[in-house]
Amino acid sequence: MAQLAINGGAATKTKPFPEWPMYDAREREALLGVLDSRVWWRTPGTRTLQFERDFAAYHQAKHGIAVTNGTHALEVALLALGIGPGDEVIVPDYTFVATASSVLMTGAIPVLVDVRADNYCIDCDLVEAAISPRTKAILPVHMGGHAADLDRLTEITSRHGLTLIEDCAHAHGSQWRGRPVGTFGRAGTFSFQQSKLMTAGEGGMIITNDDEAERLLRSVHDCGRLPGKWFYSHFIYGSNYRLSEWQGAVLGVQLTRLDEQTRRRHENGRLLDRLLGEIPGITPQLFDTRMTRNGHYAYIFHVDKAAFGGISTEKFIAAMNAEGIPNQAAYPPVHDLDVFTSGAFRSRLCPGTDGHPSWQGEFPVTARAAWETYWVPQYALLGDEQDMHEIAAAVRKIQANAVEMR
Ligand SMILES: *Cc1c(COP(=O)(O)O)cnc(C)c1O
Repeated sequence: MAQLAINGGAATKTKPFPEWPMYDAREREALLGVLDSRVWWRTPGTRTLQFERDFAAYHQAKHGIAVTNGTHALEVALLALGIGPGDEVIVPDYTFVATASSVLMTGAIPVLVDVRADNYCIDCDLVEAAISPRTKAILPVHMGGHAADLDRLTEITSRHGLTLIEDCAHAHGSQWRGRPVGTFGRAGTFSFQQSKLMTAGEGGMIITNDDEAERLLRSVHDCGRLPGKWFYSHFIYGSNYRLSEWQGAVLGVQLTRLDEQTRRRHENGRLLDRLLGEIPGITPQLFDTRMTRNGHYAYIFHVDKAAFGGISTEKFIAAMNAEGIPNQAAYPPVHDLDVFTSGAFRSRLCPGTDGHPSWQGEFPVTARAAWETYWVPQYALLGDEQDMHEIAAAVRKIQANAVEMR
């Protein structure tokens, strides 16, 4: 008789994981408050403004600029910090497309480097090797909530006079040596898309401690306006990236849960490190002890198929889903995306610019991360200890019955 749920056996998970997004009467009240106020947009509004202040303060930043989404947060940050045609920005090959496409959008070139084999964050030795006279910025991603090596990145950027921008789309509330991520460089960007650690469906944020950067970020996000100047004066090139009051109101409430939720995701992550770390063939993303808190957009682990009867990652994922454990797909390598391989990228670049040699590079660790890891989404980490034991039980069950899947 079949044991695995994918073959008709009973699923490991009986109690459901928490539902995402989470909300209660406070979000409802906040939304109705916006409705009744008849102020639905950012410009004269108060809710998005308040949320910017609260989110920045939570991350120990002086300023927060709310924007339409996390992709726009990256674009606004790059534009405001002077990145443009002819410049190079170093990004990891292993990330969501936005990290690289936002660079292209400014007319600059994303230079791709591989990630570390232990934690899937950008490899700082490769970053140093990729620096050229055209390099302007380094744009690391805190993968799954785990910070890239911020000690080295701050040292490298200051030694070479480069701009550090942190893509914190996975890392709301993550801390490196006791300090929240997002202000180790000149700007940090966040996303509030539905799957992220707090959400209004869509939304984004840029935080900074730099007053001049704040002035430029705010101007770029609001059609090139400057505070205190006539509404129809536009000083620099910008666009409309403003977040609505609806989203600001919801996010203000979501933020009040972030601290407790981060604590829980972090603790459940460390429990999974223990439970999954004991299973032959499973290698959890390495937790660097300089991370005082991991916001954990996802719990990532590598699956050695030799220890699972040779089944493919695809089959492992399907089997986990059938057991009742949700999966969040890992990213394919950036350099493999059609926009880079087909020549479609050219529409954003100056004539005569033809990509970058790094796009033809080898990215062995990214390939391994992209095609051989399993991602447990953040909301599952909001479950209790029993839920974590059931995740491990599902993995053990697949291992013990892998022969059924051949
Ligand atoms: C989600 C995400 C973004 C983009 O955020 P959106 O709000 O979806 O535009 C950027 N970078 C990374 C690493 C992401 O995961």
